[in-house]
Amino acid sequence: MTGPVGGPDLPQERRLVTEIPGPRSRELQERRNAVVASGVSSVLPIYVAAAGGGVILDVDGNSLIDLASGIAVTSVGNAAPHVVARVAEQVAAFTHTCFMVAPYDGYVEVCEQLTELTPGTHAKKAALFNSGAEAVENAVKIARVHTGRTAVVVVDHAYHGRTNLTMAMTAKNMPYKEGFGPFANEVYRAPVSYPFRDGLDGQEAAARTIDVIEKQVGSGNVACIVIEPILGEGGFIVPAPGYLAAVAEYASANGIVFVADEIQSGMCRTGAWFASEHEDVVPDLVTVAKGVAGGLPLAAVVGRAEMMDAVHPGGLGGTYGGNPVACAAALGAITTMREQDLNKRAIEIEALLISRLAELAIQFPAIGEVRGRGAMIAIEIVVPGTNRPDAALASRLSAGCHQAGVLTLTCGTYGNILRFLPPLVAPDALLHEAMDVLTEVSSALTQR
Ligand SMILES: *Cc1c(COP(=O)(O)O)cnc(C)c1O
Repeated sequence: MTGPVGGPDLPQERRLVTEIPGPRSRELQERRNAVVASGVSSVLPIYVAAAGGGVILDVDGNSLIDLASGIAVTSVGNAAPHVVARVAEQVAAFTHTCFMVAPYDGYVEVCEQLTELTPGTHAKKAALFNSGAEAVENAVKIARVHTGRTAVVVVDHAYHGRTNLTMAMTAKNMPYKEGFGPFANEVYRAPVSYPFRDGLDGQEAAARTIDVIEKQVGSGNVACIVIEPILGEGGFIVPAPGYLAAVAEYASANGIVFVADEIQSGMCRTGAWFASEHEDVVPDLVTVAKGVAGGLPLAAVVGRAEMMDAVHPGGLGGTYGGNPVACAAALGAITTMREQDLNKRAIEIEALLISRLAELAIQFPAIGEVRGRGAMIAIEIVVPGTNRPDAALASRLSAGCHQAGVLTLTCGTYGNILRFLPPLVAPDALLHEAMDVLTEVSSALTQR
């Protein structure tokens, strides 16, 4: 039995043979609507047949340019050859024993890789889980045991997941929290640095964050400060230079565990193994997920050995955490990142996207800011001449791109950010074509 084959050999082209979504996708959507809970939604209901490089092939034969990577997951591309080979080998050997029952070397090797790749040269250890939210929850568990304190500090515009604790840690109500309370307690929110909106430099913004922690929580009660070095779902917000370092330094001076949630920004996405590196920040704990395993579910907490080892034996784990197939995929993905130097490639993508978008911003005053690092780039859509968010225009732009065969995502607390997260293996020609499409859609929407 053979199905459609994806991977980098798929023709790297945008090709539309039906309207989007096409008839076969619409048929599947009807079947889905009958049985899939409507709380689970899809950005673009084209049903996927195969994917690879920078394209997604749908069941109607359309080939779309992928600027989503399944939300920053398939950084090495879909069906990446090293991932496919290692997964196939592992599946044929064994699929699951549970690491807590009978261990295997893939888990250990992933922890060796991650303790080497995360920032800092201190002694580190790691533990593996299934999802990003689970990693964040476990980072909090570790920080609480290590410090003997309970309070968790998070920031405005934060996104940390959809479980009860991580919903409490996530800032945005709709759609993540609405109606799902009561939420976990002992979670406190402080302002962050959002240069486009607050105009503060890194030191000023850090002073504001620290002041709220001091006055409203008390540093002696704080187990951890959890922060995304580049805020993802909250709007691809890059804190002002110096902000992260100042907050990390405050944490260190006050016995607070500084946790970098690098679930979206890590693993080459921003042109470094971890985005903390751009700010010379060495977090105590790092949460890793999304891009780490080429599309298979795997997550990790990696950090200072003495903190990681604070938890009693049996206190961390889970049935599937560090599943052997997911570990094999991670080892294949990390090999790909090293072999193809995907950090360098992410920097090239940054240069391409930033220059195209900066050009577009000149003709299109609704683009209030172009920002981001590596292949984690966004435009903030505003009412021209103001900083008032225009979410309606952002979603019309995104929908226009979808109709033209470019899969884009929006994000942001105000829903007015259009974000670009291509696979790091997408060729330049495809990225230029996606930017051409965005340019056409932008002018069509504004010249009426
Ligand atoms: C996606 C994300 C999470 C949650 O990860 P899941 O695997 O969806 O649970 C947590 N933090 C950040 C920064 C994320 O981008």
